[in-house]
Amino acid sequence: MKYEDFFADRIKDLKEEGRYRVFADLERKAGNFPAAFNHAEDGVHDVTVWCSNDYLGMGQNPEVLDAMREAVSRCGAGAGGTRNIAGTCHEHVLLERELADLHETESALIFGSGWMANMTALSTFGIMIPDLVILSDFHNHNSMIEGIRHTKCERVIFGHNDLDDLEAKLAAYPKDRPKLVAFESLYSMDGDIAPIEGICDLAEKYGAMTFIDEVHAVGLYGERGAGVCERDGQMHRLDVIQGTLAKAFGVVGGYIAGSAMMCDFIRSYGAGFIFSTSMPPAVAAAARTSVAYLKQHNELRERHQERAATLKRRLRKLGLPVMPSVSHIVPVLVGDPVQCKEASDLLMERHSVYVQPINYPTVQRGTERLRITPTPLHSDADMDHLVQAITDVWQHIGLKKDF
Ligand SMILES: *Cc1c(COP(=O)(O)O)cnc(C)c1O
Repeated sequence: MKYEDFFADRIKDLKEEGRYRVFADLERKAGNFPAAFNHAEDGVHDVTVWCSNDYLGMGQNPEVLDAMREAVSRCGAGAGGTRNIAGTCHEHVLLERELADLHETESALIFGSGWMANMTALSTFGIMIPDLVILSDFHNHNSMIEGIRHTKCERVIFGHNDLDDLEAKLAAYPKDRPKLVAFESLYSMDGDIAPIEGICDLAEKYGAMTFIDEVHAVGLYGERGAGVCERDGQMHRLDVIQGTLAKAFGVVGGYIAGSAMMCDFIRSYGAGFIFSTSMPPAVAAAARTSVAYLKQHNELRERHQERAATLKRRLRKLGLPVMPSVSHIVPVLVGDPVQCKEASDLLMERHSVYVQPINYPTVQRGTERLRITPTPLHSDADMDHLVQAITDVWQHIGLKKDF
């Protein structure tokens, strides 16, 4: 086989479909978020970032940066091993305590990323629990799908946020057959929210475990930033709460929280936990500081919601196709991969606004979109500029206004 030709052909496929990914080469500016430099082919330009998952700008929070610097000076760069072999640093233990406190669970367990946490926990349940059936929401994130695919157990996909469909699928199995329902609290491409209470009721009725991905909600919802489960008074009903330290908490890493026994089980059997070097202690220190900070700063969450609501209102008023999000995500429908990329390119070239196009397979074909994420640090002037830029680009390409 001509391997290079094969690789080139597959890349050509993506380009022909208009969904070849081009990364913006950014240089973030601590203290100036959401401003950044964009290293483009024709030089370095100032841009305003409107699609970051650093939802609250915690990636530049002075307390977080101080904690990181302090821990680097004290402990050095890397962790020095896997958790079992010389790689458990006291900072890891402190972070796990902080996360268990956040979710009011007995324990928590940290991973190199949220992707690893989902992949490892779900695959370990699927491999280890005899006869397990995993019921997975149709819109679940790739990290959950990969974890589930890695097992040989039976899997069933239920309609997105569809309680009737979930019930029908749960009822098809004997009550004593082990089951696990895997879903997200907040789906980050549409900005819709799961009926958590209803799912927990069904799981109870049919004897299923519950596994929730709160990646796009931790730090952002609930009085202390524990997520939508906290906001909705359901936190104690979930068997596994999974989250990330990389989005609202602004650092990197992932985790699960739940009972001491469940965490010990994944700690002891989860390959992605056991065989990977633990995170640098300075990363753990920064993440812990961020989690603790956001427990105390509800005003950031309020401002975040206000910014998102204001942007949605302003875009809708101009007739722009804002999709029906009930959260901080502001998705604007384009519906075509080539035009979506073109809109993104024009925002950057003509207006120094950076919004990455979201194409298949991240979203379904025909629902390609610009996914805008306002933060508390986007000013009124930033928003004026964005609204004017989008209006210009929509006119320039002749994009559809209503659905
Ligand atoms: C980003 C994301 C993850 C992975 O988290 P990382 O910490 O970025 O690896 C998991 N689930 C969902 C829903 C995500 O969007």
